[in-house]
Amino acid sequence: KKITIAIDGFSSTGKSTLAKELAKELGYIYVDTGAMYRAIAFFAMQNGYISPDFLDKETLINSLPYITLSFKFNADLGFAEMYLNDANVETEIRTLEVSNFVSKVAEVSQVRAKLVEQQQEMGKNKGIVMDGRDIGTVVFPDAELKIFMTAGADTRAQRRFDELQAKGDAVTYEEVLKNVEERDYIDTHRADSPLVMAADAIEIDNSYLSKKEQFDV
Ligand code: C5P
Repeated sequence: KKITIAIDGFSSTGKSTLAKELAKELGYIYVDTGAMYRAIAFFAMQNGYISPDFLDKETLINSLPYITLSFKFNADLGFAEMYLNDANVETEIRTLEVSNFVSKVAEVSQVRAKLVEQQQEMGKNKGIVMDGRDIGTVVFPDAELKIFMTAGADTRAQRRFDELQAKGDAVTYEEVLKNVEERDYIDTHRADSPLVMAADAIEIDNSYLSKKEQFDV
């Protein structure tokens, strides 16, 4: 019998690594909901609705009906890539610039409502591993397995910094740490669906675990 697996937690705790491994092992579909929020933030950036000190919420909300998000499986990569209005934005959504804007966009209730609805639709048939911030609390409160991942901010910033550097992004460790801390703050303090651990989730502290150890837990 197939189940629904919800993986939530703070930024860069290794949620997607664990989720991808589980999906591969079980033959389940993996959905990265952070990619969806990132795609909306990228759309807002592209259209000039967002800058470091301003978000034109009204215009963003009015454009939501014209934003179509989809995942397409890439067999070479072994996971699904994010498409925004039929354009592959998998690379564009992973920059530090998008990371700096995304939590502001994720605070908007209308954005959350649109994405939660699409996520629930994708999970209708079970056999899914979904990662995010509100999967076990809002998207699938009845998920059979809920995992909540934590790790120290410095461990997470170092991990994200290494990833960005490997891709050739010119970022400093301090900038990445600041982003991780800011997103933690916004994600845990927003009015709509703040990041909290579901009462029935299993907590994994991933500060010192290797990928293999994480999986075995
Ligand atoms: O998972 P990732 O770090 O890519 O998510 C980017 C941002 O999107 C988070 O910091 C959060 O603001 C938002 N998000 C959310 N709810 C989710 C997934 C992501 O609010 N389910």
